[in-house]
Amino acid sequence: MRDVGYLRVGDTAEALTAAARPGARLIAGGTELVNLLKERIEQPDLLVDISRLPLTDITVGPDGLHLGALARMSDVAAHPEVRSGYPAIAQALELSASPQLRNMATMGGNLMQRTRCPYFRADHDLPCNKRRPGSGCSAIDGDHRAAAIFGASESCVATHPSDLAVALVALDAQVRTTARTLPARDLHRLPGDQPHRDTVLDHGEMILGIDVPVSPPSAYLKVRERGSYEFALVSVAVAAETSGGVIRTARAALGGVAPKPWPLDVDLAGVPLRRDELRAAIAPAFAAARPLPGSEFKIELAQRAVVRALTKPIGLMGET
Ligand SMILES: Cc1cc2nc3c(=O)[nH]c(=O)nc-3n(C[C@H](O)[C@H](O)[C@H](O)COP(=O)(O)OP(=O)(O)OC[C@H]3O[C@@H](n4cnc5c(N)ncnc54)[C@H](O)[C@@H]3O)c2cc1C
Ligand code: SF4
Repeated sequence: MRDVGYLRVGDTAEALTAAARPGARLIAGGTELVNLLKERIEQPDLLVDISRLPLTDITVGPDGLHLGALARMSDVAAHPEVRSGYPAIAQALELSASPQLRNMATMGGNLMQRTRCPYFRADHDLPCNKRRPGSGCSAIDGDHRAAAIFGASESCVATHPSDLAVALVALDAQVRTTARTLPARDLHRLPGDQPHRDTVLDHGEMILGIDVPVSPPSAYLKVRERGSYEFALVSVAVAAETSGGVIRTARAALGGVAPKPWPLDVDLAGVPLRRDELRAAIAPAFAAARPLPGSEFKIELAQRAVVRALTKPIGLMGET
């Protein structure tokens, strides 16, 4: 058994000083980090408890939505103005984890959660470059049904699990940290030959909040093996303005297909909200897909999910 120090900090300056120490880890809701400790994936010397910092704000104004890093998933999902103005965020959160977990878990912790690759989480010593750099990747020749189809490397084919992160990328959100403000789409990194690094944040850097610009109607669609309490096989967040059955502007991002939320970088302006035209318009974005044999089904599944998200929920919310 290892001794681990514990420090509950009272302000951001104290948090920064403590978090900068080698071997320190921030802890917010603890719903992810405690599991990582139990699984011996994380072995910190000091837990810096930030849960009492005044970063729980959820505010909606003329310039958009502002979420403190410590706002709880359940509070954000239930907020009336988030539900009406930013439904993709509310839906992504409500489709995540369980009510008990959402009551504890925070925005910052959610974005910083680690992959659910079974070899990474295994309680025995299987090769895993993300967990033990240089040990190999068990998924490539093993169980890789959940593997990435975009952005993977020979070192790691794991996907990023946060539903919230996918919605934030589609909504063009910014993440504010103690060191900088960066687009949500740039927070997570591709594995390359350093799969143990999930994000671009430096040691001790803390997320302070999330800023989302005023959004057109949006929706989140999650496809999973069972109806609740399950991570996405594939998910899609869309934010679109439509007129007369035609898309005027649209942004979309995919989850469950890459080591980070994957922006669907195609121009959908002028595309009718009909299945065949939408399929043709998004097809070029899937030319770059590089699945493993077991994850090939995600190419078709993801395209169907994008079409469904664009035609069904936004149609239900009414055209602008
Ligand atoms: C059974 C189960 C099912 C789940 N299903 C889903 C799901 O379907 N979809 C989904 O999206 N998530 C899911 N989750 C993940 C869950 O959403 C996360 O556990 C939770 O959001 C983490 O938040 P937390 O505040 O508890 O983080 P913590 O456990 O406190 O921290 C997690 C990580 O984030 C870091 N961290 C925390 N706050 C900050 C900050 N402000 N700045 C920088 N780093 C920080 C910590 O150092 C740690 O590394 C599931 C979790 C479990 C256990
Ligand atoms: S896919 Fe990544 S996380 Fe999974 S076993 Fe391979 S290196 Fe580890």
